[in-house]
Amino acid sequence: MLHGHACVDTGRVQPSPHILFLGPPASGKGTHAKRLARELGVPHVAAGDLLRQAVTLGTEAGVRAGAYMQAGTLVPDGVVARLLVERLRAHDAQRGFVLDGFPRTVEQAKVLEEHLGRRCLDVILVLDVDAQELVERVAGRRSCPQGHVFHITHNPPRVADVCDYDGERLVQRPDDTEAVVRQRLAVYEQQTSPLAGFYERSCRIEMIDAAGTPDEVYARVRSAAYRVLEEHADDPR
Ligand code: AMP
Repeated sequence: MLHGHACVDTGRVQPSPHILFLGPPASGKGTHAKRLARELGVPHVAAGDLLRQAVTLGTEAGVRAGAYMQAGTLVPDGVVARLLVERLRAHDAQRGFVLDGFPRTVEQAKVLEEHLGRRCLDVILVLDVDAQELVERVAGRRSCPQGHVFHITHNPPRVADVCDYDGERLVQRPDDTEAVVRQRLAVYEQQTSPLAGFYERSCRIEMIDAAGTPDEVYARVRSAAYRVLEEHADDPR
């Protein structure tokens, strides 16, 4: 069931979907990945959330990751890959997953390939949005400690600075300042966008126009994802 806007009719879909979201910071990866995962009944596995959790808990991975995250650069591949593979081995991820923010380098993509064995990703959804708009989006982004994300004008909470879902105080992420976002955009261009080329031959890639309201963009995300998953319904890959 789709919440909040007109439904696209869907038939049978691939039973254990493996979906990856790619896109620059603030392109809406987290919001749409979370929503699609909920609709498909599979876990949303977000590298940034796992890393922030590790930092808060002060685990070994968190201690190693913190400074890179604050600077807007990538955490070393080994640290991230270990954390993600461990998460993907968990029971709930065996029925499929929506990946968000991992892999971010070709090296990480190779680790994921090894983990998946012969099974490949069903579809890569690439969120495409203008860099200047991203900087503006990030400046207004607010999130709660549980990872619920709002925007002060495009997606405001019901009560200013308070999370709609858990009542916690909304704050600006320390890496959501303009200077750090410009750094994160540069990192995306240099290290993450080459992934589309890496996956071009083996995976289905769908470009999504990510300009517009969250509901408009989600409708595009959803119809692209379902189109591919319906094609794969009788073809467990
Ligand atoms: P995100 O929440 O996806 O925007 O990620 C926030 C920060 O976490 C990034 O700017 C990186 O410092 C770090 N990070 C998240 N995912 C990865 C990854 N796959 N590889 C390396 N660093 C990552």
